[in-house]
Amino acid sequence: MAIRVYIEPREACVSEMVCTVLCPEVFEITREDGRAAVKVQWRSSKDNPSEGLVGGDLEDCVIAAVENCPVEIIRWERVGRGA
Ligand code: SF4
Repeated sequence: MAIRVYIEPREACVSEMVCTVLCPEVFEITREDGRAAVKVQWRSSKDNPSEGLVGGDLEDCVIAAVENCPVEIIRWERVGRGA
């Protein structure tokens, strides 16, 4: 099982780093525009910082970020077997 993570619309990110503090394994603030992004290692496309696929073991951490993002732009879904 894996978790698909989206930051959408990423332009709405207010960059106060809740997701990167609660789930640094998955999220980072980019140097390019100062907004949150899915870390490169998880991205489905390296040029798309808004979406990625992470291991199911990171579900709790992703959910913590989802539930605490002040502008509610992080979404997730289970994918694969047992989803
Ligand atoms: S928690 Fe939400 S608003 Fe805050 S940095 Fe992460 S995506 Fe941006």
